Amino acid sequence: MGLFSKKTCCFCGKEAGLLSRKKLHDKNYICKDCEKNCSAYIEASNFDKEFLQNHIEYMKKQNSLYEKEVAPLDNSQKERYVSGWNGINFIDSIGMFEVLSPKYDKKNAKELFRYDQVQDFEYYTVANSSQDGKKYSEAGIEIKFRCPIDENGWKNNDSEGGRQHPYVSKIRIPFEKNTDDATCGSLAKAHMNKLFGRASESVAGSIKESFTGTGTQQAQAKAGIESLKSLGNLAKAAIQNDSEGMENAKSELKNAATDMMNATFNYGAKYTQIADDAEKRAWENN
Ligand SMILES: [Zn+2]
Repeated sequence: MGLFSKKTCCFCGKEAGLLSRKKLHDKNYICKDCEKNCSAYIEASNFDKEFLQNHIEYMKKQNSLYEKEVAPLDNSQKERYVSGWNGINFIDSIGMFEVLSPKYDKKNAKELFRYDQVQDFEYYTVANSSQDGKKYSEAGIEIKFRCPIDENGWKNNDSEGGRQHPYVSKIRIPFEKNTDDATCGSLAKAHMNKLFGRASESVAGSIKESFTGTGTQQAQAKAGIESLKSLGNLAKAAIQNDSEGMENAKSELKNAATDMMNATFNYGAKYTQIADDAEKRAWENN
């Protein structure tokens, strides 16, 4: 009956094996080989044929972008943080990074993420449920992207503002098994802090609970403090009837408000131009 009947892959037309095929939302099937054309960071079975067809075209463009803009670079032009099979490869000169994982390794296309698509990032930990005395079973960096769809393929209403990633809303990079020897994840996060203008955190010793506040929260708190300072200066200048002081305080307030807006809505916007230039070089001069 149905369960054991032969199914055909809707992309290549070949028979899709029972154990390796996946059923799509529109009841079509995708075979294991065609799934290799999709991103390692989406789940194909959450989507339908038409959606994946567009996605596979997107991935081909990603691969050509990588071939033209990243493949020719030597190691000094990349900043790689890898632990085991997982890691991140920053290419600051084009405002993009690559996420390394065993699943990504098996894919047909290389893929890059733009810095200006990042909505937020934080160090995450997974509590250890076994009784071996370790507090965490996994720790690493979680990166959230502004994206119109969430990890389950549903419409994501929380993605307003700034540059969006068309497919990926969240990636976890599991750098460490526990946080006692955490170095790789915290070094990678330190580089991200630098990129996105966040206060640096100590990487000495184990990862402390202070790592867990999200970067947006930290940046907003900082911008909030600056606003309060400027408001204080404005009040002081007004009391002293100091017009120059008032103008200065007003412009400080405006800068603090701009920082807050950037922290909230437009993280990484300063990398838009160099990422746009790289895409233009790769895709428009064929
Ligand atoms: Zn196929």
